Amino acid sequence: MLVVMRHDARAENVQAVVEAIEAMGYQALPMPGRQRTTVGVVGNEGRVDGGRLSALDGVQEVIHVSQPYKRVSREWKAESTVIRLPGGLTIGGDDVQVMAGPCSVEGEAQLLQAAHAVKEAGATILRAGAFKPRSSPYSFQGLGRAGLELLAHARRETGLLIVTEVVDPEGVDWVAEVADIIQVGARNMQNYSLLRRVGRSGKPVLLKRGIAATIQELLLAAEYVLAEGNPDVILCERGIRSYDTQTRNLFDLSSIPIVHALSHLPIIADPSHGTGRSDLVPSMARAAVAAGADGLLVEVHPSPERALSDGVQSLRPEQFERLMPEIRLIAEAIGRRIAEPAGAHP
Ligand code: PEP
Ligand code: MN
Repeated sequence: MLVVMRHDARAENVQAVVEAIEAMGYQALPMPGRQRTTVGVVGNEGRVDGGRLSALDGVQEVIHVSQPYKRVSREWKAESTVIRLPGGLTIGGDDVQVMAGPCSVEGEAQLLQAAHAVKEAGATILRAGAFKPRSSPYSFQGLGRAGLELLAHARRETGLLIVTEVVDPEGVDWVAEVADIIQVGARNMQNYSLLRRVGRSGKPVLLKRGIAATIQELLLAAEYVLAEGNPDVILCERGIRSYDTQTRNLFDLSSIPIVHALSHLPIIADPSHGTGRSDLVPSMARAAVAAGADGLLVEVHPSPERALSDGVQSLRPEQFERLMPEIRLIAEAIGRRIAEPAGAHP
């Protein structure tokens, strides 16, 4: 539930509302806004009787949040969240951020080649996993902390920001030291202790949709992060399980406008995992921008045939370079813009 204060409400009116909510056994979250303060009510299961609150001085209206997720919902916060990243980059505003790079950090030469290639093509953020959540325990598991060091090196050398995955709560401090955005992968979307831990990391979180998760489950997972005090969550559509074997996953483009309607959080699209096929990535990347995605996550490898993970879905640098001007045109057509690299901003 949300208690909307009148624009001329005084601090003591807000305080009285907070105390009334706490006396009812719930938690009160005052949120000062430009026009007026709202006070969120959390900790309630089911409907709260708002009658007592609407009678208090300075209260304009009491709104029931009908969704099971609260803080991530548009009912709770009408304006879209714009996440600020180092170098003046933003996610969730007019700019569409392109995150690109190999699935995994495999070594210095591979990572730097990929980083330079995606930067030259116009990406703003380098993606690559140092810790890899692999379906098989016998597959390449990533370079771990050595991989994080290579990512830090690539960041210094190219100025690209870094998004990289964390796979367990113990790794959050290491990853947060290097990453500008911490990725929680599809397999961990419902790992609640990890979600709580990244909620206290102080870094923006890229939360990928689970392989069989509903949109509501994705939003509830994001709620865990916000509930720990971290408002900077970027959702990611990366495809869901289907019965068709033509693609690795079914890339659910409709989730983009659905999430935008239900939540103020930004959502980006990952056509690489979404399709599992490099030949489908450019068309689905274009479609995702057209559908309103706030960013793209694209796997690009200097030589996909030698990749230690996800080579079949990785673009070659020249394919990625061809994609960039196409998505620029599409972004412009819908009143948006593919972001310029960090530092290129005034
Ligand atoms: C990845 O981004 O390389 C990855 C492991 O993705 P997902 O969690 O979506 O499978
Ligand atoms: Mn991958």
